[in-house]
Amino acid sequence: MRYKYYVEDWVKPIRSHLFTTKVEITDNHFHLDPQGRKDLAVKDFLNAGGTRLVIVNKPYTPWKKIDKFKEQVNTTLNLANKARDVGAKVAVVASPHPIDLVKMLEFKTKTEASELYLDAVDFCTTLVDENLIVGLGELGRPHFDVDKSVWDLSNQVLLESLKRARDVDAAAVLHTESGTPEVMADISSIASKANFPKNRLVKHYGGPGAIENPSGIVVSIISSSTNIEYASNTNSNFMLETDYLDDPQRPGAVMGPKTVPRKTFKAIENNILSEKQVYKVHTSIPDSVYREFV
Ligand SMILES: [Zn+2]
Repeated sequence: MRYKYYVEDWVKPIRSHLFTTKVEITDNHFHLDPQGRKDLAVKDFLNAGGTRLVIVNKPYTPWKKIDKFKEQVNTTLNLANKARDVGAKVAVVASPHPIDLVKMLEFKTKTEASELYLDAVDFCTTLVDENLIVGLGELGRPHFDVDKSVWDLSNQVLLESLKRARDVDAAAVLHTESGTPEVMADISSIASKANFPKNRLVKHYGGPGAIENPSGIVVSIISSSTNIEYASNTNSNFMLETDYLDDPQRPGAVMGPKTVPRKTFKAIENNILSEKQVYKVHTSIPDSVYREFV
């Protein structure tokens, strides 16, 4: 049996039903790496019943100069086109990563670091203007403890980045510490200060803590069965993701490329997600956040 062309039999009837009702299956946080499985990983996703991917830029190697950052985003755009070539509909999201800012502080002053970071943000907003990407991400702040001064700088830079994203009508995807109702309220207040629309702001790597009370922010949950079941019983707006890294050192991390379609079909089968919910999770919410998959 050729692995990459194998479509699981039990999925077929549900899949064809979903296809005739034009329901998409969207993985909201998927990375591709030039050293990884690239289009083969995308084929796995498609063969399992997936249709759309949000492909997120990845800091492939540490960068110190804006040109290097631009090269990396270009790599992401090329990988996204490869995903399209094999049949996925794709929305691309790119920005300097919040950890990039922390790393810059090893060789730059706070002012220099935030200037370089925001230059990279500006480059991404021009790509939004050119319709090459739909949003900025991952923006945010460190997920680990840092000095108060680094924390404050990260929040300041996040606020400024969201203002710039808003100016070009972009979506934004956030990488932060684990979501709790307090964290979500705090992020929400930063978004309000930036006048950034919360229905286009995504908390990535979400779980029950983020979705319990998301303060108007859209939560993209890591697609474990427990998370899906928890989320299905709330009224919060959520989407599903694998945070697939396409890292040859960590194959299948954070979750493998087939996970979102598989878990969705399982949840339908077990009456955990209704058809209406599937439509919201995979079609209407991603459409309103990212606007367009091509
Ligand atoms: Zn990610």
